[in-house]
Amino acid sequence: MRLRNKPWAVKLVNEHPESVIQDPNPEVKIDWESRFEDFSRPLEIEVGSGKGKFITTLAERYPEKNFIALELQTTAAGIILRTKLEKNLTNLQIMRADAADIDSFFAENSADKIYLNFSDPWPKSRHEKRRLTYKSFLAKYQYVLKDIGHLEFKTDNSGLFAYSLQSLNNYGMNFDFVSVDLHHEANEILDHNIETEYEHKFASKDNPIYALHATFKT
Ligand code: SAM
Repeated sequence: MRLRNKPWAVKLVNEHPESVIQDPNPEVKIDWESRFEDFSRPLEIEVGSGKGKFITTLAERYPEKNFIALELQTTAAGIILRTKLEKNLTNLQIMRADAADIDSFFAENSADKIYLNFSDPWPKSRHEKRRLTYKSFLAKYQYVLKDIGHLEFKTDNSGLFAYSLQSLNNYGMNFDFVSVDLHHEANEILDHNIETEYEHKFASKDNPIYALHATFKT
């Protein structure tokens, strides 16, 4: 998804270096401790946050945790930042950067959970390496995540979901939860679900939402 360029968003991002890290140099260690009130709290990262409905809702709901929105596009980062400032979400930081370098942004064993929500499907097989559930990305998530590490993935795209199940399985991951129709699961599951922008759009057309939770084997 390519958002139309919004000059106000670019300006806002440039005015708030304390909240948004842009194009970090992979060679330079990021001082996360100085960016959060208490960096010893659990850390959760969303890769490809879009306009940030999911991660800002999480940050508001769980003030006892720290969150990072990792997003390629400046306009999207600006929209997330606007919500962060409006809601005073001091437990949310934004990175405008490519997830391909995620293992250089975070120390080994530093994050508790990674979320992938409605990731770009890259359906052509020659683009397989760009899919965020390709094995090279999984290796980077494994490095960043603590212990067995939790990965949560949602999509409306059946092809990407089938591919991801296979890719995670081939990587040796364990599945804790798999759904081919998340929005018709039991209430105790739905009560914990936070909708993303894409999820809202597709679910309101009654398209099935696919979801999985998986961990890395030790
Ligand atoms: N997660 C949001 C949702 O569910 O509504 C947005 C989904 S949108 C289809 C995918 C988002 O991932 C886009 O905003 C895109 O810029 C971002 N993205 C794609 N590849 C990325 C990468 N390698 N690193 C960081 N963000 C990425």
